[in-house]
This record gives sequence, structure tokens and C-alpha cells, in this order.
Amino acid sequence: MLNFEKIYVYPKSIIKKGILPDTYFLGKYRFSPYQACGHACKYCDGRAEKYYVEGNFEKDIRIRKNAPDLLVKELTSLREIAPIRISSGISDAYQPLEKTEKLTLRCAEVLSEYTLPVGILTKSSLILRDIDIWQKIHQKSNFTLMVSLTFLDEKKRKIFEPHASPVEERLLTLQEFKKRKMVCGALMMPLIPQITDTNKYMIKLIEIFCDLKVDFIMPGYLTLRPGKQKEDFIQIIKNYYPEKLDFINHLYSNNRFSGNPLYSYRQQINKQFKETFAHLPIPTQYPHHLYKGQFPIYDEIFILLVHMMELYQSSGIPISPLKKSFAKYKNWLESEKKIFNRKRSMTQKDLENKLITIIQDNKLVEIIENQKLTSFIYQIIINHKVFDYQTRKLI
Ligand code: SF4
Repeated sequence: MLNFEKIYVYPKSIIKKGILPDTYFLGKYRFSPYQACGHACKYCDGRAEKYYVEGNFEKDIRIRKNAPDLLVKELTSLREIAPIRISSGISDAYQPLEKTEKLTLRCAEVLSEYTLPVGILTKSSLILRDIDIWQKIHQKSNFTLMVSLTFLDEKKRKIFEPHASPVEERLLTLQEFKKRKMVCGALMMPLIPQITDTNKYMIKLIEIFCDLKVDFIMPGYLTLRPGKQKEDFIQIIKNYYPEKLDFINHLYSNNRFSGNPLYSYRQQINKQFKETFAHLPIPTQYPHHLYKGQFPIYDEIFILLVHMMELYQSSGIPISPLKKSFAKYKNWLESEKKIFNRKRSMTQKDLENKLITIIQDNKLVEIIENQKLTSFIYQIIINHKVFDYQTRKLI
């Protein structure tokens, strides 16, 4: 029986929104019914001081009791239709307390009354309890399930993710959501140095995900921010893998605020990702054909440009012209959004139409100073083409 300190809180607002979309988890809005996490993953970024989570991260769980009511109020006043993501790097919406609190379930019921695309990242099979509601949302506006899994054996999983769902249950969860034709992604992160980051281990995991026919697999290495997160993780290595302690200490010896390991390791692991995925028919980012139509077109272009830079960079293709044009597009978009936020009478359609007119009048080239990219964006927006991340062709 797990013991938690339940702390009921009543925040004034729940939905967070950035000026620009999150290009990683593909969302524009996000919220968490809980703060802190009973899954107690030993590498969790949420342990870092940066997030100001008070108390014992694994046990003192803040329960945002009024989340469903706040959602009703805030969803009604959103001015742009775009995906909303549930959970954050510092809590899981289906952590153990959800079984009895049913707060995420109530939030799901609220969301099912609206038409926003929704996505969840979880390590728990408890989400299966609510699969009918997520399917209802998917039929209306799209639902994406992202499951994070880097362990194949229960022994390791129990050491690093003691209260998250067992490996088999997480795979079964993906299978059930796939059966109902919802979008599913596997997050193969964080790969633990010398424990799960070996080629053999990665290939085995990828094979399993491919058999499940997930829509994308996102690999990622471990980051350890100096302070509590790093201390907690190192303690686990000391207890269970003392022979790896020197190596791991060396990898994170720079104590970067970002938690990044040494550059040489990042280079090596990125090369490994590239080689491993090179011949596989599966994207390592949320693919364009799945998010097209979910975001306002101005955000779609922003996401696409970021993904293209990542794709080309990981393949060793020079990206400086693309990077320059991207910076110009980003400046344009940020200043347009400032106007949008000030002028409450302006709608998403107004800003979309503005961009369409700019493209049709051949004025985009004056903003991004790149003829080739201008033509590319014309194909995406005016001719409704999709950029295939694997072949790198328009389809
Ligand atoms: S499930 Fe996610 S948020 Fe919860 S402890 Fe694990 S990594 Fe952190």
C-alpha cells in the first residue's frame, strides 16, 4: 500500500499557454491535475529545484481539486483551436492517486464536450479505465497517447520507476489505444547510460514498438540537473550499479543547468539514434501528416520549420540558411501574436488569412528572405501538401 500526503489546492487558473507552440510534445495549451508524482521515477526532472515543487516529490502530492471547474471556464474563452496536452515533466495525470481521486477522469469528461485535440503522456495503464472518453475525443478532434518506456525487464524498471506501471501493462495500453485507431507515440527516454542506452537494448525496444505499429518513437538521453535530481539519481546508482558510478559521475561532471551530459556523449548517442533509425519506417518526431490541421496554419509552419532543422541537423545537412529564415519567421510570428493578444476582436481566422494573403501576394519572401523556402511554404499552405519526414519530400 503506497502512502501519500494528499494536499488539496485550489489554484486560480489551470491552462498554461505559451506564445509559440511546444514543438516537442506538439501542444499549444497544457495543464496538470496534479503537482509532483507518486510514480517516483528516480531520474525525474521534476525533482530539480528549478520547478519549485515543495516537500517530498514522491509523496507530497498537490491535487488541484478545482481543475475540472477551471477547465470549463478557461476552455470556453480560448481564442485558438490547437492541441492541449495533459501532464508535464513533473507530474503524471494517471499517477497512483488518480485511481481514487478520479480528477483526470473528470477533466477528460469536460474536454470531451469541446473540440480541441488532446494528448497525454503517461507511464500508467490506469488510462485504460477512461479509454472510451479518449476515443470519443479522438472521433471529434484527435487524441494522442504518448507512453514513455525505456526498460524491457521488470527488475530495472522497479529500480528506476518503482510505482509506474509494469512494462507489459504499458505495452498493452499502447496496443489497446492503437486497436481503437488513436494516435500513439512511444517515448524511448530517458535512456540510462550503460544501462539502457546500448544498441542491442535500443533495437529490441524499437522492434517491440514497431510491432505495436506506434505512429512515432522519440528517443532521448538522460539529463541530470545539479541539485536534488542529480543527488537522488546518483544515490540509486550507488545502491544498485556501483560499478557504473564513476562513468556516470564523469558524464555529468559539467553540472550544466540544463542537465546535459558531456558533449562527446551527446554526439555519440545522437549518432547512435541516427544510425539505428536510418532504415526504419518510423519517424522520430510527431509526423507532419498527423498534426496538420490541428494547429492554426501559422503555428503549423513554425513547428514544421523547427522539425526540419532538427531533421537536417541530425543528418549532417547544413542548416544555416534555414535557421536564418526560421529566425525571421519567428520574429514575424511573435510580433503578429502580440497584436493578436492585444486586439481581442481579432480571431484565429484573421491571422490565418493574413498569412495566406502574404503567401499568395508573394510577400513571404520579403519576410523570410528565402525563395526556396517560400515556395515550400506555398505548397504546404496553399496546396495543402504534407512534408514526409522520412523521405523528406512533399506528398
Ligand atoms: S511518471 Fe513522469 S512525472 Fe512522474 S515521476 Fe516519472 S518521470 Fe516524473
